[in-house]
Amino acid sequence: MMKKVLILGSTGSIGINTLDVIKKHPDKFSVSALTINTRIDLLIPQINEFKPELVVVTNESAAERLRENLSINCKVLSGVKGLVYAAANCEYDILLGAMVGFAGLLPTIEAVKRGKRIALANKETLVVAGELITKLGREYNSEIIPVDSEHSAIYQCLVGEKAEEVEKLILTASGGPFFKKQKGELNNVTVKEALAHPNWKMGDKITIDSASLMNKGLEVIEARWLFGLPKEKIDVVIHPQSIIHSMVEFIDGSVKAQLGVPDMRLPIQYALSFPKRLENDFPKTDFAAIKELTFFEPDMEKFQCLKLAYNALTAEGTAPCILNAANEVAVKGFLEGDIAFSKIPVIIDKALETIENHTSPNLETIIECDKMTRKFAEELI
Ligand code: NAD
Ligand code: MG
Repeated sequence: MMKKVLILGSTGSIGINTLDVIKKHPDKFSVSALTINTRIDLLIPQINEFKPELVVVTNESAAERLRENLSINCKVLSGVKGLVYAAANCEYDILLGAMVGFAGLLPTIEAVKRGKRIALANKETLVVAGELITKLGREYNSEIIPVDSEHSAIYQCLVGEKAEEVEKLILTASGGPFFKKQKGELNNVTVKEALAHPNWKMGDKITIDSASLMNKGLEVIEARWLFGLPKEKIDVVIHPQSIIHSMVEFIDGSVKAQLGVPDMRLPIQYALSFPKRLENDFPKTDFAAIKELTFFEPDMEKFQCLKLAYNALTAEGTAPCILNAANEVAVKGFLEGDIAFSKIPVIIDKALETIENHTSPNLETIIECDKMTRKFAEELI
């Protein structure tokens, strides 16, 4: 049956890859709505090609420019209200969450409340509101299928297995561009160096998170909520080739892994087509060319962000929300040249130490905590 997809963040790296997957399977998927922040130059050709019933441009002036430049009939909404409206009212089967950061939370919750399938790339929503979203997911019968490659790998390894027979999850991390640098050298790295990820081409925010290993920290928290395991059962191993996307160890010591070339279209397609697999023409793994797969312990003294994320997970409540908001502000500060790379964990640590933690937060508490943390972190930039 044809599935209609609403894409939150269609002009980003995941959004563009998602449209490529949809384009390759025109008999299986169509686009119901697209949402973006500002890049209408990228959105216009997407509208012309995929003919959504609705688009949302969060930025008001960009939305106005789009209305003036559209040659085909398509409803245009703007603002956060528009995002929430699309998720709450459009006709669709799958919400592909590919916005970046906290901003994806509200529309995702609307989709969960309608019992939709959530193909989730936007890991920050689970980091800040994992407890709430998974609870709503159970209540409204909404399945959350990960798009993040590590979690997609684990999801695939768990098919046909019993939860009580899982010993631990092993998330792989490439190590990022600074894997071989000494701790002291992280003071002087440039934005350009931090954006030069060895294996993946992604949006700026997640690329910086990959360089600081915060991305892996966020993924540990994401895994906690997706798979319902305590942090003691979620390990991280550095695997510079990014061929093994993650692994699951079972109680008998057997380990299952999912492998493939680093291409996000694979986990995106899996999240759209699950439980089926679909044929495609994406590049396939050439093991003889890869030659070796290597593994290293992560250095949490050098990459403090990973340690801070484990600490926030232990603290629970709004601690992961504080971690995320302070990180979003610090990453923006680094990208804009206002702080050194090594100051990112310093700001997050101060926010975690200072801002009060609330247990089992509801949505209002999470929104308030996010606001308060941003204000606090912005004063440290
Ligand atoms: P990106 O920066 O390339 O794209 C972000 C998209 O979200 C754009 O379409 C942008 O217009 C939209 N957006 C950003 N801020 C917005 C706002 N405030 N309101 C409305 N729309 C907004 O990001 P990306 O690399 O595609 O990553 C998207 C999400 O997927 C992130 O949460 C990231 O952690 C996750 N993810 C990405 C990859 C990857 O390979 N890129 C892999 C795994 C997970
Ligand atoms: Mg990932």
